[in-house]
Amino acid sequence: MQQPLADAVISDSHLVEEARAGDRDAYLQLWVRHVDTARRVAATASISERSVEAAVNRAFSRVLGQITVDLDPLGPFRPYLLRMLHEEFGIRDAAALPTTNLLRAFRRLPVRAQTVLWYAVVEQVAPAETAMFMGEQEAVIAPLLAESIDQLRAEWLVELVCDPTLTDTCAWLVQRADGRARGELTQVAADRFDRHVAGCEFCQGFLRTLEAFPEALRDDFQPLFTLQLPAESAGDL
Ligand SMILES: [Zn+2]
Repeated sequence: MQQPLADAVISDSHLVEEARAGDRDAYLQLWVRHVDTARRVAATASISERSVEAAVNRAFSRVLGQITVDLDPLGPFRPYLLRMLHEEFGIRDAAALPTTNLLRAFRRLPVRAQTVLWYAVVEQVAPAETAMFMGEQEAVIAPLLAESIDQLRAEWLVELVCDPTLTDTCAWLVQRADGRARGELTQVAADRFDRHVAGCEFCQGFLRTLEAFPEALRDDFQPLFTLQLPAESAGDL
């Protein structure tokens, strides 16, 4: 979406602050930036165009209401808006987005890192647009993204190792995956690593995700882009 140049360096979080202070233009600007995505997601509910518009309007009002009582987004604006949209359809947060180790890791990152990962990796928007949402210069985006991917990867590995459902051997392997890839393990450890992978579906999946990192983040967030309504509520929205 093309934005007037004057708006190019105003971040979403700044607009949220202005909207809280009662600035209607700031609220409108948030609307302009995010309404198309909200409409697209609402339309996946197979409801009439009028219902899509009404649901999107209510989601935005809900966001404004939350901002006004200081319950504004702790992370990037758009996933927050999409969660509010799900709530409009009676889908609570946990149902909208099952928590994975990767999403837990994501939520622990600083807002700037979450925001660049959301737009650049999850939505794959162009660096110029990502820069606009963040109120940054475009040149900042690539290095910030690289740094944020590293942070996410490190946090994710910590989440995995601390996951109580993981067996000790799987946790052992997670901690050595980088070493194995770089050929740094002793022969005994490397053999143990390979033997375990051959027989463990979890670790096979883990290594595939690690190889394709950070694309898995996009997969984990996909449920936010589709509205799966319970059958009985689809008719009356
Ligand atoms: Zn394993």
